[in-house]
Amino acid sequence: MSLDITLWETAWAARDPAYDGAFFVCVRTTGIYCRCVCPVKQPLPHNVEFLPSATAAELAGYRPCLRCRPETAPFCPAWKGTLAIVEKAARLIKDEGALDGDGSVETLAALVGVGSRHLTRLFRRHLGASPIEVAKTARVQRAKRLITETDMPMTDVALQSGFGSLRRFNAVFHEVYKRPPSEMRRGRKTILVVVNRFHTQQSSNP
Ligand SMILES: [Zn+2]
Repeated sequence: MSLDITLWETAWAARDPAYDGAFFVCVRTTGIYCRCVCPVKQPLPHNVEFLPSATAAELAGYRPCLRCRPETAPFCPAWKGTLAIVEKAARLIKDEGALDGDGSVETLAALVGVGSRHLTRLFRRHLGASPIEVAKTARVQRAKRLITETDMPMTDVALQSGFGSLRRFNAVFHEVYKRPPSEMRRGRKTILVVVNRFHTQQSSNP
């Protein structure tokens, strides 16, 4: 993997078309991901991370660049066949909660027609993460949306996002964000208050 990253850095710096579709450049500061050939001015290297597929970038929360259209990047045919399996499995994890509750990697693998070990290998190659890790990210993203967009009690947020218990939810959240979920909701309220105050001041100061 580390060998790939060095290779990708060089390919990106040169906008090398030979690597188009082989990896994607994700810009942390803008939340956008690009093909390595993107004509847009390149961001500073310490602001980017490289991911092995468009699906990996989208699972990590990046949006496609409107200039280079990374979601339509070319693939070699052998790569494309196995990517379709990974995309189908990733959709089942993300949208159907296939690994929440009693869901297992074995059952998921059977649903997409491969063995569980093969599926895990394909996930590593295309997404740089295991099916279990992708499921964890999906749960955290669902929870984060419910925390910031609703006033749902935390226990309900935990269960609706696919966590087995409130304790598990708190532990995972702390691991990812280094702070309790309730703080994220408080953070949102503070922002809203500041915005409201700003608007009030604006309208009283013509
Ligand atoms: Zn781009």
